[in-house]
Amino acid sequence: MHAMVLKKLRAPLEWTELPDRHPGAGEIRVKVAACGVCRTDLHVVDGELPHPQVPIIPGHEIVGRVDLIGAGVAGLNIGERVGIPWLGHTCGVCPYCVEHRENLCDRPLFTGYTRDGGFATAVIADARFAFPLGETGDDVALAPLLCAGLIGWRSLVIAGEGKKIGLYGFGAAAHIIAQVAKWQGRSVFAFTRPGDAATQNFARSLGATWAGGSDQMPPEPLDAAIIFATVGDLVPLALKAVRKGGRVVCAGIHMSDIPSFPYSVLWEERSLVSVANLTRQDGIDFLSVAPKMSIVTKTTRYPLTQANQALADLRAGRFEGAAVLVP
Ligand SMILES: [Zn+2]
Ligand SMILES: [Zn+2]
Repeated sequence: MHAMVLKKLRAPLEWTELPDRHPGAGEIRVKVAACGVCRTDLHVVDGELPHPQVPIIPGHEIVGRVDLIGAGVAGLNIGERVGIPWLGHTCGVCPYCVEHRENLCDRPLFTGYTRDGGFATAVIADARFAFPLGETGDDVALAPLLCAGLIGWRSLVIAGEGKKIGLYGFGAAAHIIAQVAKWQGRSVFAFTRPGDAATQNFARSLGATWAGGSDQMPPEPLDAAIIFATVGDLVPLALKAVRKGGRVVCAGIHMSDIPSFPYSVLWEERSLVSVANLTRQDGIDFLSVAPKMSIVTKTTRYPLTQANQALADLRAGRFEGAAVLVP
């Protein structure tokens, strides 16, 4: 197999030939067809997440086909198309796992961060954490659903039932979740970098009711806001944009420091929460309704060997939607 391997933090990934791997008990081997590039991959490469491990193969929005099955795996077949998300393994016995909050597991493994991921021609996965994807939809178009879609979905559920939803940072996750929210009959208010007219037009083209800069107030108070951008300065701005009792959800795994703000911004039962990881149930829920919503993912395709270019373009905001690597 070949992979783009992170051998040293804050260094380019290296195209590397590796011995073929074989699945252990409870595992499958998946031939990768497409792997999305997520902002979290940048945090992995930059060593911004706790306890970084190298060498590691990044990538956690994997679409591929099962090509080997380890002992004791039930319910998956050779050749079946599956998706492999960020949550790669949980312990099953800690208090969080027992309480159906496995996204907070005390001893988890994360694909592309603490176990090898999908910037490769093949990946070994814990079979319990692979989602059957069926045959509807293109591999490249489906890849961003595996993290941007799933984390966005969990964030939207946690944002509550409000009709007016603000999305701060209109990248891979927001461009999917805007379509979900609209399908649910909600109004989307998109906040981009100030002056980024192209992204604001992109948001309107996906059905946003209003699009503007993150330094602007929406035309009417929001019921909830989700922050996908990794910029802590957005937190007080989003709190100011929501109505009394409104909720602000921080969807990122990493964020710059939040500046201090007057208590009046939080007062009147506004709430501020974060979303961490996903559960398998989130995946089952989202992937079962996603085909009905006819979500269109805007993707920019790169050969796997150009993963470093894809990461650089993501960092610089040089494309709309999501980058996807194809071996
Ligand atoms: Zn991700
Ligand atoms: Zn656990």
